[in-house]
Amino acid sequence: MDHFLYKNGTLHAEDVPLTDIAAQVGTPFYVYSTATLTRHYHLFTEALSPLPHMVCFAIKSLSNVAVLKLLGDLGAGMDVVSGGEYRRAKAAGVPGDRIVFSGVGKTRDEMRLALTGGIRQFNVESEPELRALSEVATSLGLTAPITIRVNPDVDAKTHAKIATGKSENKFGIPIAKARNVYAEAASLPGIDVIGVDVHIGSQLTDLAPFEAAYNKVADLTRALRADGHNIRRLDLGGGLGIPYTRSNEAPPLPMDYGALIKRTVGDLGCEIEIEPGRLISGNAGLLVSSVIYVKNGEGRDFLILDAAMNDLVRPSMYDAHHDIVPVIEPAPATEPAAFDVVGPVCETGDTFAKARPLAPLSEGDLVAFRSAGAYGAVMASEYNTRPLVPEVLVKGDHFAVIRQRPTFDEILNRDTIPSWL
Ligand SMILES: *Cc1c(COP(=O)(O)O)cnc(C)c1O
Repeated sequence: MDHFLYKNGTLHAEDVPLTDIAAQVGTPFYVYSTATLTRHYHLFTEALSPLPHMVCFAIKSLSNVAVLKLLGDLGAGMDVVSGGEYRRAKAAGVPGDRIVFSGVGKTRDEMRLALTGGIRQFNVESEPELRALSEVATSLGLTAPITIRVNPDVDAKTHAKIATGKSENKFGIPIAKARNVYAEAASLPGIDVIGVDVHIGSQLTDLAPFEAAYNKVADLTRALRADGHNIRRLDLGGGLGIPYTRSNEAPPLPMDYGALIKRTVGDLGCEIEIEPGRLISGNAGLLVSSVIYVKNGEGRDFLILDAAMNDLVRPSMYDAHHDIVPVIEPAPATEPAAFDVVGPVCETGDTFAKARPLAPLSEGDLVAFRSAGAYGAVMASEYNTRPLVPEVLVKGDHFAVIRQRPTFDEILNRDTIPSWL
């Protein structure tokens, strides 16, 4: 459920007509709903209660500082995968003891940043990283709380580019090697082993792979405790999928996911962490765009929008489907026609949808891409020197621009011509 509905024939974000935002901000723009973000965060806290838990929002899915402040103020923790994301969490006022640091390639500088600024835990992904962290922590006279990310070798049955829990993926250490790596971790100075971490992929629409992975984590936890480790926290990752179409998809509900967590690891007495990104942010955002031209081609018609693959890369990168809806509600009996929906970028891959049935649209009409809150704005670029798409946050009947569209002067001033040229 989200808060983007037609009212009086116009698509609204909560109580704001999207036409009002478009008039003030121009298109394209992203718009997020505070009510949807809040609701999705609470679905997880309710699903995990009464287990001791922390829901750490995966910043990489939607990293605007205003959104992080909204979630942080609700009590959310943050899952960061870079020093930049760590800085964003801090800028949003999230205390270090609610920030979890994930990622396969943490640099020593990033480790220093998090150790001195405060960190809940590092999710360590390799032996070389473990040794580097021990060195950095020791040199600072500090201790790094860690989990080790294990790769459970389960097939998440999702798109190959976002599956992370098979042995061929670069993530984590093979679960069969885990006891040896934990033994090394326990022997290293500056390292405090507190738990186990797993994350098997993104956009999972079936709970079975989670169940397989979490059962393996439960077995490993018992074995590690028998080896003498004080395992007291389990980070179970993110990855719960969302419906990208209104009609035929029914991904698992957070409540069922919570029940699965209780069933598989609930009796271990551990604090539970999860790292959802997409389920919190995905359906909390739209990308709004205008029609530049309707072009009648050979056997097909093109809807050419002012949004492009640089603003929303998911369709060209993951073959992702986004529902596209007109901002002005079509009359009830309107017959849809098939359009190829494309952007202005000079790449054939700049195609959002092929032969998509849509109510007829004309130049200047507004359309909205649904489910664009996650992995949308964060993956945007300025390819084709198209200014980075702005972001808007709505609450009730008011809205604010939370990232301005850069001016062309700002864009051009980032380049410098060397004096010798
Ligand atoms: C990407 C990622 C997440 C979030 O995944 P979603 O599918 O957005 O829930 C969580 N944890 C880690 C380590 C990730 O890499």
